[in-house]
Parts: sequence; structure tokens; C-alpha cells
Amino acid sequence: MNRDQQFSVAYMKCAISIAELSRCERAKVGAIIVKDGNIISMGYNGTPKGFDNSCELEVEDEHGQLVLQTKSEVLHAEANAITKAAKSTYSTDGADLFCTHSCCFQCSKLIVQAGIKRFFYSNQYRDTSGLELLRKAGIEVIQVEIED
Ligand SMILES: [Zn+2]
Repeated sequence: MNRDQQFSVAYMKCAISIAELSRCERAKVGAIIVKDGNIISMGYNGTPKGFDNSCELEVEDEHGQLVLQTKSEVLHAEANAITKAAKSTYSTDGADLFCTHSCCFQCSKLIVQAGIKRFFYSNQYRDTSGLELLRKAGIEVIQVEIED
């Protein structure tokens, strides 16, 4: 493993630690934004500031079974990291984003518009439309393998 790969693994492990802070039960996702070797922002999936912390509602599925459904107000980890940077004096332009999971289509648009130049992820979702949009926009997409 070269030095750059070592750093990528370290940042991904950091994103994994941040994911553990999520109060969502269905999935815990973490994201870190790195620029010029500094972590400038981080986020995990959760509700907006001032909202109830719980991320899920119990709803009945088609079989009458109670299942957890993610509330529509929940922000994804990438969106939280990008908007947290927007509130600060940092710029995400030209930065790297490390996320524990591959991004969804909605977040991929934010990543493009935020000027992120490289997207690193560890776990891949079946839906790769977000990653495809990033590649189409010229963003480098890199999977980082983390051993358990
Ligand atoms: Zn998303």
C-alpha cells in the first residue's frame, strides 16, 4: 500500500467512526470532507438541527407488518457534510469526500455542485446511479477496501 492509499484508509476509518454517531437505525452512514490534507467537514445521516433525533417511523407494510421507514426529513451523511461546510468559512471546491457508502442519486448532484473532485466510498449500494452521475461529471470515484 502506498502512502496515498494509507491516507485513504485512515480517512475512511474516520468516516466509519463518524457513522457510529448516527441515530438512524436502518443504516449508519458517515462522511468526511478533506481538503489539502485537512478534514474540513464531516457528517452522518440524521434529521436537521432542531428536529426530533429519531430517523424512522413505524409503518405497516402491505402484509400488515410493522416496519421502520426512514423519515423524509432525514439528510444523508454527504448532504450533512456539504451543508456543514457551507455554513463554515471552508470551501468544498476541489476537495475529496470520503463516505462509508456509495452515494445516492440525490447526493451525487450536491457532490458535483459542491466542486468535489474525488469521491471515495467503502460499501457499494446496488443502485449505482449516483456513482454514474459523478463519473459523468468528471469526478474520480474510488472504492476503498476496509478489512473488518
Ligand atoms: Zn444520499
